Amino acid sequence: MYISTRDNYQSVSAAKAIKLGMVPTGGLFVPENIPSLSQKDILAILQGSYSDVAKKILGLYLDDYLVEEISECVDKAYVDNFNHEDIVALHQLTDSVYVMELWHGPTAAFKDMALQVMPHLLSLALQKLEFDKEIVILVATSGDTGKAALEGFKDIPGIKIVCFYPYGGVSKIQERQMTTTDGKNTYVVGVKGNFDDCQNAVKAIFGDEEYCSFLAKNGYELSSANSINWGRLLPQIVYYVFSYLKLVKDKKISLGDKVNFVVPTGNFGNILAGWYAGKMGLPINKLICASNENKVLTDFFHTGVYEKNRAFKHTKSPSMDILVSSNLERFLYEMTGRDGKTISSWMEDLNNKGYFEIGDKLKEAIAEVLWADFATEDETMAMIKQEFNKTEYLMDTHTAVGMKVYEKYLKETGDDTVTILDSTASPFKFTASVLEALAGFQAVNNKDEFELFQELSKIVDMPVHSALKDLKEKPVLHDRVCEKGDIKKELEDIIGNFLLINSSYT
Ligand SMILES: *Cc1c(COP(=O)(O)O)cnc(C)c1O
Repeated sequence: MYISTRDNYQSVSAAKAIKLGMVPTGGLFVPENIPSLSQKDILAILQGSYSDVAKKILGLYLDDYLVEEISECVDKAYVDNFNHEDIVALHQLTDSVYVMELWHGPTAAFKDMALQVMPHLLSLALQKLEFDKEIVILVATSGDTGKAALEGFKDIPGIKIVCFYPYGGVSKIQERQMTTTDGKNTYVVGVKGNFDDCQNAVKAIFGDEEYCSFLAKNGYELSSANSINWGRLLPQIVYYVFSYLKLVKDKKISLGDKVNFVVPTGNFGNILAGWYAGKMGLPINKLICASNENKVLTDFFHTGVYEKNRAFKHTKSPSMDILVSSNLERFLYEMTGRDGKTISSWMEDLNNKGYFEIGDKLKEAIAEVLWADFATEDETMAMIKQEFNKTEYLMDTHTAVGMKVYEKYLKETGDDTVTILDSTASPFKFTASVLEALAGFQAVNNKDEFELFQELSKIVDMPVHSALKDLKEKPVLHDRVCEKGDIKKELEDIIGNFLLINSSYT
C-alpha cells in the first residue's frame, strides 16, 4: 500500500497511487513498506537483462499487478525502442569512474527511462480500478519532458495527451521533435507566450471545477504525468540496481562492494530513486547531489535551510533549472523516520514564508548518506572540454555538472570508492552548448541547429543520436498555435473534436 508523506490520507493500492499522481489533500505517495532485495533475488537477476531487473524491481513494489501484467509493460517499454542493446550503457571513464548513459531511448532524454513504462502502468491501473472514463493528460513543457511524455503516451489505450509548449520559446530541435510525433491520441499546441503562461493555464484548467464536471459528463477526466507520480519514480530504481550488477558481472567490483552515484539533480526524482535502491539493500557509499547555479539544494544540504526565494537562473543545463525540488519531500519524510506532521509544517512554511529549516541533527544524518555541491556555468563548459581532451568522452552540459561536482568531491574527501556518474542527456540533445564548449562561441553563432549536429558529429567522430538524426526530414503532423489567453479554448476545440468523433461512431 501507499501512504501520504503528510499523514493526511488513507493508504491506497499502487494502482490508485499511480492513477491519482499526488495525494489529493497535498503530499506525495510513498510505499508503506520498502521491500528488500534478498541475496536470492540478486542471484536471480545477476545475469539478467535490463528487462529482467525491471520486472523484479517493479514486481516488488506493485503487488496489485499480476506478474504477467508487469512483464507485458516492461517488454513493451524496453525492447525495440532503445538504441543500445543493454538499454542503459555503462562507459568506463577511468579505473574507478563509470558513466551510466540514461539517454538511449526514443527521444534521447533520460525522462524516457520512466516515461516509456509509466503510461502502460497507468493504463493498467485504470482497468484495475474499473475506471469508466478516458484520461486526458495535460502537459505544459519547456521542451524535453513534452516529447518524452508524447512518445510514452502515444497510442496507449484509454488515454489522450495534449501538450502545450511556448511557441518560439523552445529549441528548433525540441519543437520539431514534438510536432512530428505520430500516434492517434497525441495533440501538440504552440502557445504565444512563455513556459509560465503554459503552466499557469494548465493549472487553472485543473482547478476549473465547472469545466472538469462538463468533461466528466462527456466521459473524460484530466490528469498529469509529472515527476512526482510514483509510477515515474519506481522505474528509475531499476537502473541503479542494473548498473551495479553489471559491474559485478563484468568483474569490476565484487558483490557487496560499495559504490558512489553522482546525480545531476533538479526535481530530486533521480537521486531519490538511488536512495530507494540503497534502502532495498544495494551497497551504496554516498549519493552525490550535483546542482547547477540554481543551487537551492546545495545550500539546503549545507545549511539546513531550504530557501526558495532567490533569483531563477537560465543555465546551459536547463533541465536542472528548478527552485522547488518536489521529490525532496519524500526524502525528508524517510529521513525524519516518517514524521508526516513535521513534513506538513515544513511544506506549509515553504508555501507561506518561502523557506523551512530542518535543524542540525537531521542535517548531519543526511550528510552520512548524501554529499552536495554545485558547478558554475564556466566550470561546466570547461569540464566538457577537459574531459573530451583527456578521455575523448563527450558529455552534455547536465552530465558535466555532475562530473565537475564529483571532481570537487574527490578533492575534498579523497574517497576513491568506485563511482557511477548518471548521464542524463545525449550530447546531441544540447548540441549548441556542447559545441561551444569544444570550439568556442564562433563555432555556433548564427548556425542552424541541424547544421550543428553535423558539425559536432564530425569534430567528435560520433554519429548523431538516432532519435534526432532524421528529424529534419520527418513530416510535421501538428501545427496548432494559439494566443496565451486562448489555451482553454484550444483544449475545448481539441476535446470538442473527440466528442464529435465519438458521437459519429455511436
Ligand atoms: C529531468 C532532468 C534532470 C533532473 O532530474 P530530476 O529527477 O528532476 O532530479 C537532469 N538532467 C536532465 C537532462 C533531465 O532531463
